[in-house]
Amino acid sequence: MSDKFQAVVIGGGPGGYVCAIRLAQLGLKTACIESRGSLGGTCLNVGCIPSKSLLNLSEEFHKAQHLSNKGIEIGEVKLNLSKMMKNKDKAVTILTKGVEFLLKKNKVAYFKGAGSFKSKNEISIKDDQNKESLIQAEKVIIATGSVPVSLPGIKFDEKIIVSSTGALKLDQVPKKMVVVGGGYIGLEMGSVWSRLGSEVHVIEFLDHITPGMDKEISKEFMKILQKQGINFHLETKVESIKKNNKGVIILTSNKNKKKINFDCNVVLISVGRKPNTKNLNLSSVGIVLDEKKRIKTDKNFKTNIKNIYAIGDVIEGPMLAHKAEEEGIAVAELLAGQSGHVNYDVIPGVIYTSPEVASVGKTEEQLKELKIKYKVGKFPFLANSRAKAINEAEGFVKILADEKTDKVIGVHIIGPHAGEMIAEMAIAMEFGASSEDIARTCHAHPTFSEAIKEAALSVDKRAIHS
Ligand SMILES: Cc1cc2nc3c(=O)[nH]c(=O)nc-3n(C[C@H](O)[C@H](O)[C@H](O)COP(=O)(O)OP(=O)(O)OC[C@H]3O[C@@H](n4cnc5c(N)ncnc54)[C@H](O)[C@@H]3O)c2cc1C
Repeated sequence: MSDKFQAVVIGGGPGGYVCAIRLAQLGLKTACIESRGSLGGTCLNVGCIPSKSLLNLSEEFHKAQHLSNKGIEIGEVKLNLSKMMKNKDKAVTILTKGVEFLLKKNKVAYFKGAGSFKSKNEISIKDDQNKESLIQAEKVIIATGSVPVSLPGIKFDEKIIVSSTGALKLDQVPKKMVVVGGGYIGLEMGSVWSRLGSEVHVIEFLDHITPGMDKEISKEFMKILQKQGINFHLETKVESIKKNNKGVIILTSNKNKKKINFDCNVVLISVGRKPNTKNLNLSSVGIVLDEKKRIKTDKNFKTNIKNIYAIGDVIEGPMLAHKAEEEGIAVAELLAGQSGHVNYDVIPGVIYTSPEVASVGKTEEQLKELKIKYKVGKFPFLANSRAKAINEAEGFVKILADEKTDKVIGVHIIGPHAGEMIAEMAIAMEFGASSEDIARTCHAHPTFSEAIKEAALSVDKRAIHS
């Protein structure tokens, strides 16, 4: 007799493992299947965590090299890349093992192997020796995430032509690196290798970087990255990528049909990710996908098959770990008869470059398209005393509030610690705050978050320090 579970989660990423823990907390007999050999998904293994580790270490390296400008002499600063990589790997191991401990603590049965549908209530698990076992599931939650996409006809070798996964484990600093795609993953990884010494060129098809970001912030972001030495080639299309004995040649054409060739040692292709539904045998149960090959769900994460649900990167919405986690919790609560819910209007997004870029809610462009009238409050870090005191005064805070009700509907920050500061605004928006509420909230001095208060004051043109 195969084991029987009330809920089986396929995929142990931030969507899947969080969902499994919440299901178990709510009293359901739960299993979680993961094929990677370690828990935590893309995020912990080859995404958020290793990238943030390298962003932090490369920033410390860069800062240490420039400390003498601030009166701190520490002599020659040298890079030990292999030690840096070991440090990153250690962080990943500790965290993935931590998730395994959490599953155990919550009595979630963890199956190592690839899950696929045998029928709508039977899941087959194949381990790395190809040994198959079967478990029974009353409810199934698909949380199989996403995988990187390449350009047509170009295969990742993860050494010279790399996805983000390869870019996180290069064994030497490439003399020259080309990043195809100016989204957040490309810019984060480009920043890492630029700080460690690579000449970095970003090729972007559009006329701006970070598509979907508030345009004013996006322009400022590009200016700052250019100042840091990253080269941008906008409105440029990659025609082909060919390996040669020195590395790679990338043939491109720009909007004036001018052909430009880039030779480099490593090319990072970061043009997006696609939902991972391969190997699930979805057709055997007749699960419907949408036009982008994501699993189609209703607002309660239910697929077209009654007992099967899906969450995270494999369904519609921003491909972000915290979005996957929120969905994991919501679906678990719904399955336990509670009223799980995700507020998609308040999902923050952060880019962990230096300075950081963070946003929550609508952009100006979206508000214009939706014909929502709004007021804008802005405050530069140049006028923030803490930022000035530590020489990190680039960027600004921008608050968008409804013209009539003053309710905050969008916040965009580029500047020091933006990724932490955005949480204040996410809470404010969850509570339906107005810009007046924020302007009247006492913020400690001297802090970066005073720039938020001043931006809120500026919505009604009464900022004090600018
Ligand atoms: C370089 C990089 C940096 C990123 N940085 C951030 C960041 O800073 N912040 C942020 O919010 N997001 C970030 N992301 C995105 C984030 O990693 C994803 O949005 C998040 O991991 C999605 O979670 P998930 O649970 O839906 O899927 P995943 O994390 O992809 O997990 C799915 C898991 O399912 C497993 N699986 C697939 N098929 C099967 C099967 N048939 N059987 C068993 N297991 C299976 C996979 O092995 C995988 O481990 C980053 C991504 C990358 C690539």
